[in-house]
Amino acid sequence: MHMIIGILKEPAFETRVSLLPEHLIALKKNSIEVVVEQHAGATAFATDEKYKEAGATVVSRKEVLLQAHIILSINPITENDFADCKDKVLIGQFQALNNASFVQQLAANNNTVFSMDMLPRTTRAQSMDVLSSQANIAGYKAVLLAANLFPKYFPMFMTAAGSIAPAKVLILGAGVAGLQAIATAKRLGAVIEVFDTRPAVKEEVMSLGAKFIEVEGAADASKAGGYAVEQTEEFLQRQKAKIAESVAKADIVITTAQIPGKKAPILITKEMIHQMKNGSVIIDIAASTGGNTDYTKNDETVVENGVSIVGNSKLPGSMPSDASKLYGKNILNFVQLITGKEGQLHLNFEDDLVIGTCVAHQGGITNDRVKAILG
Ligand code: NAD
Repeated sequence: MHMIIGILKEPAFETRVSLLPEHLIALKKNSIEVVVEQHAGATAFATDEKYKEAGATVVSRKEVLLQAHIILSINPITENDFADCKDKVLIGQFQALNNASFVQQLAANNNTVFSMDMLPRTTRAQSMDVLSSQANIAGYKAVLLAANLFPKYFPMFMTAAGSIAPAKVLILGAGVAGLQAIATAKRLGAVIEVFDTRPAVKEEVMSLGAKFIEVEGAADASKAGGYAVEQTEEFLQRQKAKIAESVAKADIVITTAQIPGKKAPILITKEMIHQMKNGSVIIDIAASTGGNTDYTKNDETVVENGVSIVGNSKLPGSMPSDASKLYGKNILNFVQLITGKEGQLHLNFEDDLVIGTCVAHQGGITNDRVKAILG
């Protein structure tokens, strides 16, 4: 019997899809069949027709859940789906550290769950890293959004009608999103300052043409598998004092600091925002985990002291076609890791990427951090 992969339609707020028609060729080569929920790719410009042309069968949600051995979605399935997908393998962004009790329900449904946001940050993992491919888009779009909202020029101009100073951009957190934000702001002609708790990133920041501001004494994150760690209160106080100086001068601030499984650290306080110039813009990419400012509201824009604080967590979804293309390629690479040449399921729990992302299997929770959260 052939292995069948199912692609679900995402919830109404989501524009992306977990796999595009163009990704199906590689699955076909491994004799893997694909069933797609009706209109799954509509908002990502992938019509049912295109899926059919690529060899997929378009069916109802219930049929996807019943027929597929591996079920793909970006956002988690809902409780209404449970009865139809017992025992199945689920791959998606389950945010397992923030939704531990939901993972427990999936374990009770006997699902094998791969939470792609738990992927170890190793070289081999890069081609499957959905957080990176989507954060790259968020960093790019954050700068474009800021440039649009900012009532002034980004580049410097010296014209017969007078001179325009370049916009000052401050970027907090030089991970994947932050580095792309630096590159994009640079292309638009801004002058850029950057903070990060990882001194290792200083050279990358400087090579992109930005100034790196160092705060001594950050907690070492080198053993956290490429993910950020929490800082001491004492460090955060010293860092805030330095950030305050840069915030007061900045026209645009892009904040990206997140800690897996924890609330995002507050790096910009009410007082700092009240020191900012009218018309300044903050784009808070960490909004979905609480945000890096005192005023951030997830998926809302707050205006305080003439400063727009944008908590848009759906930036990757504003480019649904490219976002799905990259997300889908990540997923395709992961599917190839857990299936054999003949398309059969092949789960090697000795593999750090397989065990690293697996949060539920054979009725139990398989990840220690998720177990610890559940007590
Ligand atoms: P992230 O989204 O978890 O955090 C964004 C950035 O915020 C990080 O650079 C972090 O150091 C920084 N940060 C956290 N607390 C901060 C604070 N108090 N002040 C200032 N900055 C703070 O990170 P990410 O973008 O997912 O990845 C972080 C890093 O992991 C990357 O830059 C890269 O070096 C590494 N990485 C490796 C791989 C790989 O090798 N497969 C893939 C992705 C990322």
